[in-house]
Amino acid sequence: MKLGIVGLPNVGKSTLFNAITNAGIPADNYAFCTIDPNVGVVAVPDARLEWLRDLHQPKKFTPATIEFVDIAGLVKGASKGEGLGNKFLSNIRTTDAIIHVVRCFDDPNVTHVEGSTDPLRDIDIINLELILADAEMCERRMDKAQKAAKGGDKRFLREAEVFSALLEHLNEGKLARTFECSDDDRALIATSDLLTLKRTIYAANVSEDAVNDPESVPYFQQVKKLADEEGSLALPICAKLEADIAELDDPDEKAMFMEELGLKQSGLDRLIQASYELLGLISFLTAGSDECRAWTIKKGTRAPQAAGKIHSDFERGFIRAEVIAFDDLKACGTMAAAKAKGLVRSEGKEYVMKDGDIVNFLFNV
Ligand code: GDP
Repeated sequence: MKLGIVGLPNVGKSTLFNAITNAGIPADNYAFCTIDPNVGVVAVPDARLEWLRDLHQPKKFTPATIEFVDIAGLVKGASKGEGLGNKFLSNIRTTDAIIHVVRCFDDPNVTHVEGSTDPLRDIDIINLELILADAEMCERRMDKAQKAAKGGDKRFLREAEVFSALLEHLNEGKLARTFECSDDDRALIATSDLLTLKRTIYAANVSEDAVNDPESVPYFQQVKKLADEEGSLALPICAKLEADIAELDDPDEKAMFMEELGLKQSGLDRLIQASYELLGLISFLTAGSDECRAWTIKKGTRAPQAAGKIHSDFERGFIRAEVIAFDDLKACGTMAAAKAKGLVRSEGKEYVMKDGDIVNFLFNV
């Protein structure tokens, strides 16, 4: 999963990005995280996987990973290629979802590029750049489809119509993700790389004193309302505090500091959780003495396709899956005890995977 961090300059993107990548266990099997300072790969914290590691003492421990990309430089005029605008827009295209950082704190010492704190105006500025870039792309797609349709290929008639209607919607300054259409048309639109189609988390960067009661902050309320209206998520976070927390190396010290602040979960944990929720993702686990590993799949994935995540042979030759829910295993303590209690189930091709399933796939080669 790849998440792109966008937002106006000086809203706290780099602070948040650095906090996230410092706080996370670096996934050092990803060499490129040291190549590009704007890309950070972090392991998804998962207490279940850690419990399994303690149980199996495996040779290899492989949590799921998330790639964060700090897409700085998105400013007014970016869609027109101002500054390095277009390069940044193309960086956003390759992400699965967007984290849109919005300044929701007042601080006279931190210059606001627009002169004042106003989350909704700021969101509009960034979204408008994304919409303008999308409109250009949508128009090209419409032209292409119209030409193909004129050439006699009827399949492109609908495509030309859909992208023409979508273009109208974008030209009204609206996001592609709020365009109402049939499922078929939506599937067609999804074949494009439109930026404003991407699921978005508005990360409301609130001040330190607001972090425990963000709902009381009018700036956050505004962002939350907007996010609700367009089916996005609003996540209150204090980038500066996260940076302070991330600087502490000692886990006990970290826990104590967070307790003092009244924080139950780090911003990274909440952000990852929100991203999984937004993208409809869950994890299943494989565990043994060789490796304990977490795998990310879409909610609703059936057992053979989940097996295919591990290896395409597993999907092709799928026979059945031996499955146990994590909580059941934990309650029993060992696999042998769980088996004796009949808690390890045998599931077939139609089985829909659940979050936290521990699985052993049986397959033909
Ligand atoms: P970017 O341009 O969006 O990447 O913004 P930066 O992360 O570089 O932050 C800009 C300035 O805002 C820096 O001086 C940060 O220390 C400050 N800043 C970031 N987050 C917070 C916050 O939550 N509260 C306060 N008061 N300042 C912050």
